[in-house]
Amino acid sequence: MATRFVIVGGGPAGHTAASHAARLGAQVTLVERDVLGGAAHLWDCIPSKAMIATGGALSYLGRVHGMGLDTVKPELDTASLRERISTIVGRLERSTRELLDSQGVRLIKGTGHLKGPHEVVVETADGVEELTADAILVSTGSRPRIPDWANADGVRVLTTRDAYPPPDIPGHLVIIGSGVTGVEFVHMFASLGSRVTLIVSRQQVLPIKDPEVAAALEENFIERGVRLYKGAKATGIEVVGAGVRVLCDDGRVAEGSHALLAIGSIPNIEDVGLEAAGVHFDQRGFPVTVGHHLQTNVKHIYVAGDVSGKLPLSSVAAMQGRKIAEHIMGLHARDHRHLDYEKAASAIFTEPEIADVGMAEAEAFASGRKIRVTKVPFAAAPKAMINDDTRGFVKIISDPATGVVLGGSIVGRHAAELISVIALAVTAGLRVGDIVDSLLVHPTVAEALADAAD
Ligand SMILES: Cc1cc2nc3c(=O)[nH]c(=O)nc-3n(C[C@H](O)[C@H](O)[C@H](O)COP(=O)(O)OP(=O)(O)OC[C@H]3O[C@@H](n4cnc5c(N)ncnc54)[C@H](O)[C@@H]3O)c2cc1C
Repeated sequence: MATRFVIVGGGPAGHTAASHAARLGAQVTLVERDVLGGAAHLWDCIPSKAMIATGGALSYLGRVHGMGLDTVKPELDTASLRERISTIVGRLERSTRELLDSQGVRLIKGTGHLKGPHEVVVETADGVEELTADAILVSTGSRPRIPDWANADGVRVLTTRDAYPPPDIPGHLVIIGSGVTGVEFVHMFASLGSRVTLIVSRQQVLPIKDPEVAAALEENFIERGVRLYKGAKATGIEVVGAGVRVLCDDGRVAEGSHALLAIGSIPNIEDVGLEAAGVHFDQRGFPVTVGHHLQTNVKHIYVAGDVSGKLPLSSVAAMQGRKIAEHIMGLHARDHRHLDYEKAASAIFTEPEIADVGMAEAEAFASGRKIRVTKVPFAAAPKAMINDDTRGFVKIISDPATGVVLGGSIVGRHAAELISVIALAVTAGLRVGDIVDSLLVHPTVAEALADAAD
C-alpha cells in the first residue's frame, strides 16, 4: 500500500511537500483552511513584492530624465493596484491547484488538527472528517506579532496584512521595526508617496546585516526624507483623531497618520494538536526537531516552514517540504544533500536592492577565520551606466588558500537575481576562478560579479 501522507497547511512548505511526495508515489492529502499557496502568496512575499514593483515603477519614472527623457509623473490608482495583487494571487492559487490535481493530491478545504500520532481531524464546511496517516507534516505557517501595547485596528494601526494597499495611502506612516520587513515597507510606502518615520531599536537598520550594506540603505532612506528614530523602542500607540502617536521608551514621540507594526511573526502552533500526538516543544515554543530531516520526537510527524523555528523564508520552507518528501519516500538514503541553512540566499527588496548568501565579512572576523574580500562598485560597470543606475557594489568572500567562494553580498539593481550566481558557487563549492572563467554576456551588470571574483 502507498504511504499515506497527510499535510496540514498549504503554504510553500506544505504544497511543495505534497507535490514532490505525490511524484514519488505517496498517497497525499493536503488540508488548507484558506488559500492554497499560504500566507506567502496571500499576505507576505507576493503582495509585498507586487506593491514594491508598483512603487519601483513610480520611482523609476521619476528618474528617467537621466536617460534623455522628460520626467513622467504617473498617478497611483489604489483600486487597480489592489485588483492587480488579487489577480496575481488568484493565478498563483489556480496554477498550484492544477499542478496538485494533476498529480492526484487530494485537497481538502478545512482546518486540520492532530487527534493522535496517526490521526488528523479536519473540520470543513460540510462536517468533520478523520484521516489516518503513516506520515504527517505540520506546515501551518505564522502570523504577525502584535504586542499588548499596540491596538492593531486595521484602520490607523496596521499590520503588514492590512497594507496591500490600505484604502488610503498613508500621508505619514510610522513604521515600527527595522528588520527586513520593516525596511521593505519603508521603501514601499516612500515610493508610493507617503512620508515615513522608522523606529529603529538599535543604532543601525537591519541590525544583523553587514554594516556596510545597512549604511547604503540608510543613506538612501535619508536622501528620500525618511526620518530615523535610532535607539528607540516603541512602547505604546495612541490614536488621536485622524492620526497616531507612537510612544518610545526614551521619551520621544513619533507622530503620523498611521502606524505599521513590523516586529516579527509568531508560529501557528496552538490548536494544531501536536501535544495530543506526543510532540515535545523547545524553550522558544517551537516543536522539537531531531536530526537533519525535520522529524519531531515522534518520528513520522514532521514540521516545516515557519513552524519549524528555522530560517523563516518561503524559499527555505519549500526546500524543507521537498526534503521531507524525499525522506518519507526513502530517497534520502541515495543522492541526498542535507539542507544547509547557512547557504540560503536572501534578499531585501528595497532601493537599492540588497542580497546576500553564505559567510558575511563580520562573521568571519568574529570567528578569526582568514578570508579574502573583493569588492567592485557598480559605478565601474558599463551596463549600470547605460541603465543610469550606478548605485551599489558586489562583494565576494573567498578562502585565500583555495579560492573557494564562501559568501557574498550585493547592493544595487537586480541584486536578488544576481546573488543566484554566488549562491550556486557557495552551494557547489566553486572557486572564484570558476566565476572569472565564465563567459558572461556583455554588457550586463553581472559582469561586476566576474570582476569581483577576479
Ligand atoms: C511581509 C512579509 C514578506 C515576506 N517576503 C518574503 C520574500 O520575499 N521571500 C521569502 O522567501 N520569504 C518572505 N517572507 C517569509 C515567508 O512569507 C514565510 O517564511 C513563508 O510564508 C512560510 O511558509 P509556510 O509554508 O511555513 O507557511 P505559510 O505561507 O504561512 O502557509 C501556512 C498555511 O497553513 C494554513 N493553516 C494554518 N493552520 C491551519 C490549520 N489548522 N488547518 C489548515 N490550514 C492551516 C494557513 O492558512 C496558510 O495557508 C515574508 C514574510 C512577511 C511577513
